[in-house]
Amino acid sequence: MGSKMRSVIAVGELLVEFVSHKKGCELRELVTYSGPYPSGAPAICIDQAARIGASTQIFGAVGADNFGQALINRLQSNGVETSGIESLEDKSTGVAFVSYFEDGSRTFIFHLNNTAADALQAESIQLPTGPLIMHFSGSSLGNLNLRTAIQRTATEVIKRGGQISCDPNVRPELMKDPDVKAVLMSLIEKSSYLFPSDSDLEFLYPDIPQDETISNLQDTGVKTIALTRGNQGSTIFTRDREPVKLGGHEVEEVDPTGAGDCYCGTFLAMIANDHPIELCAQYANAAGAIAVTKRGPMEGNSSLDTVKAFLKSNPANTSM
Ligand code: ATP
Ligand code: MG
Repeated sequence: MGSKMRSVIAVGELLVEFVSHKKGCELRELVTYSGPYPSGAPAICIDQAARIGASTQIFGAVGADNFGQALINRLQSNGVETSGIESLEDKSTGVAFVSYFEDGSRTFIFHLNNTAADALQAESIQLPTGPLIMHFSGSSLGNLNLRTAIQRTATEVIKRGGQISCDPNVRPELMKDPDVKAVLMSLIEKSSYLFPSDSDLEFLYPDIPQDETISNLQDTGVKTIALTRGNQGSTIFTRDREPVKLGGHEVEEVDPTGAGDCYCGTFLAMIANDHPIELCAQYANAAGAIAVTKRGPMEGNSSLDTVKAFLKSNPANTSM
C-alpha cells in the first residue's frame, strides 16, 4: 500500500433525483415524490468510493442553485474532492424523476440536456497528480458534451499510464443516438475494470453466448470483469484464475437504483487501496445489497465499517 495507492476519479453528470412513492404511476399521475436525492451514476460511485476510504475526485457541473449546493455538500461531507465541480450561474442543476412498476422495472425522465449536468467542458478538467483510475458510466455517453469530456479525459488518463473503469449501465432512454454504442464499445476495450449486468452484455453483444463475450473482452485487455446480477449477487472474471462467484445477500429491496454504482464505487476503492480481488468482490457485493434497502439512489451508500458489520451478520447466499 502507501505509495502505490491510486486515486479514483469520475467524470460525468451530477443530478438530483425525485422518486415517486406510488408504483405504476408512470410519472403521469399526481402522486407524492421525495427528493432532491443526490444522484447521477458517476456521483453515486465516487461518493461510495470515498466512503470506503479511497482518495476521490469528480469532474462535472451543477447550477448555482440549491440542488447543486445539496450535491456538493453531500459529496464533500463524505470526503470527495469537489473542486472539479463547476458551479454555473446561467444553468440549472440536472434533474431526474423515477417511478417503479410492481415488477421492479422503472421509468425515468431525465432533465439533463442543456442543464448544468451536460455543460462540463473537457478543457477545464485538471487531473490530479499521481496514479489514477478513471470511472465513467455508459449512461453518460448519450449526451454529446459528456461523451466528448469522457473520451478526452480517458485518452489523457491512459496517456499518463492510468486505468479506465466502465459501468456500461445501458439506459435505452439515453442511448438513442447510434454513435453512442460504438463509442461505448471502443471505451470498453480500453478499460481495465468493467461492471456489466447481464442485460448490458445482451444489448452490447447480442446473440453471442455470455462466456464467449467475457473471453473476447479479456482478449482485448479488460483485466477484471465484475458481472452484476441484482439479487443473485455477482461473478468476477480475471484472466489468471477461476471466476469468483458470490451469491446475493438476503435484504429487503426498497429502491434498487444506484446499487450498481455503489458496487462499482466499493470495488474500485478496494482495488485502488490494493486489496485482493476476493475482498474487493465480497465488499462490493455486500455494499450493493445494503444500497437497495434505502429509498434514493445514493442514500444506501455506506462506510467500510457498515459493510464489514453487515457481512458479519448477513452472509451471502451460497446456494446461488
Ligand atoms: P443499476 O444500474 O440500476 O444501478 P445494475 O444492474 O448495474 O443496477 P445490480 O446488478 O442491480 O446493478 O446491482 C449491483 C450489485 O448490488 C449486485 O451485483 C449485487 O451484488 C447487489 N444487489 C443488487 N440488488 C440486490 C438485491 N436485491 N439483493 C442483494 N444484493 C443486491
Ligand atoms: Mg448499473
